[in-house]
Amino acid sequence: MSAAIPGVSRTRRKTRQVKVGTVPLGGDAPVVLQSMTSTYTYDIDATVAQINRLAAAGCDIVRVAVPDKRDTDALPEIIRQSPIPIIADVHFHYQRALEAVKAGVHKIRLNPGNIKDRRQVNEVIRACRDAGIPIRVGVNEGGIVERQDKTVRAAEKNMMSQDYHGSLIAIMLRKLEDYIRIFEANDFYDVVLAAKSVDPTIVIDAYRAISSRFDFPLHLGVTHAGPPETGRIRSIAALGTLLAEGIGDTIRISYAADPIYEVEDGKELLCSLGLRARHEPELIACPTCGRIEVDLLELVGKVRQKLAHIRTPVKVAVMGCVVNGPGEAEGADVAVFAGRGRGVIYVQGQQVRTVTEAEMLDALYDEAVKFAAKVERGEAQLRNAQVQIKPPEPIGPPGSEHEKNKPGGVSLPVVKN
Ligand code: SF4
Repeated sequence: MSAAIPGVSRTRRKTRQVKVGTVPLGGDAPVVLQSMTSTYTYDIDATVAQINRLAAAGCDIVRVAVPDKRDTDALPEIIRQSPIPIIADVHFHYQRALEAVKAGVHKIRLNPGNIKDRRQVNEVIRACRDAGIPIRVGVNEGGIVERQDKTVRAAEKNMMSQDYHGSLIAIMLRKLEDYIRIFEANDFYDVVLAAKSVDPTIVIDAYRAISSRFDFPLHLGVTHAGPPETGRIRSIAALGTLLAEGIGDTIRISYAADPIYEVEDGKELLCSLGLRARHEPELIACPTCGRIEVDLLELVGKVRQKLAHIRTPVKVAVMGCVVNGPGEAEGADVAVFAGRGRGVIYVQGQQVRTVTEAEMLDALYDEAVKFAAKVERGEAQLRNAQVQIKPPEPIGPPGSEHEKNKPGGVSLPVVKN
């Protein structure tokens, strides 16, 4: 089953829809970006401050841990102050779940396998049903093997010793089926499913299998992915593959770092796949090579910082030369092509300025701001022209022979459609 998402070209597998506060999750809703606070939830000020930062960066919903009563006691005030819906992350203590529901939380993350007494699980499910809030249940590679029943544990361990990958996914599916039966027995269907592993190939195959078997919305994530330097690759490999296949209704990229990076990378992933509209400038830059004649890496970092406040998705290209730069900057609204101590700036295929290396940052920024303002006034459209320069054409330093010999001064030839 698939559904077209308005405004994007991807086709996504259709799931049931649940509501996390005001945020729809699943069905034809856009993929929801979530993160988790790293503060002590009982520290209301620190938690709200972090939630505000995450929300400003593009986080749609946020999870907070509630290991103690003092954490659930803090929830009403956090919920009151938070600009986005709150999910309570519950492990082991069913009372925390009941307290969180009473506090007005918008979703619960619960692992029935962590709560021994089935009556307690049923009580939490009924409380969520009465409050009209969804529950996310998940299986996790780390705690998947049966702990209580020794016979089952031995059988599962034996299976996994022969085919770890396949057996793990089979066990994940079986456990999820067991959990779903508990929810259905309580006439509760606002369920979100998750199956996490540190191995992207397991994550991909597990969600493919879950997606073909259930129509509950899916929460995608790679667990214990590590710091951004390593976790980024694992997370994007797994989540990017699944999202590109139309699988996944909410994502959390989890890092051993400030959660702001989870949100920044998650947002970039969704924008890159056309699953979220971009509202800020998109920066592209060449990787540099032996042809480079300016300090492009430093320039790119400064351009990124300088453009951060613009709220129009202008595509800005910072390219090291005119050899491959123009082709690679195709579709850029504003672009600079650097040469020996110089830069030529283009706005939608039109050469507008030639500046020295020292002027490049400010000139590019000025053109980006001017172009964004034109778009906002309806006088220009984003990405409706291509930058085309007849390569190769050395720029040369100011006053060079190339410049002197060029008819009309410094301009590079522009080939227009
Ligand atoms: S744009 Fe020019 S400098 Fe940059 S990587 Fe390509 S060829 Fe090298």
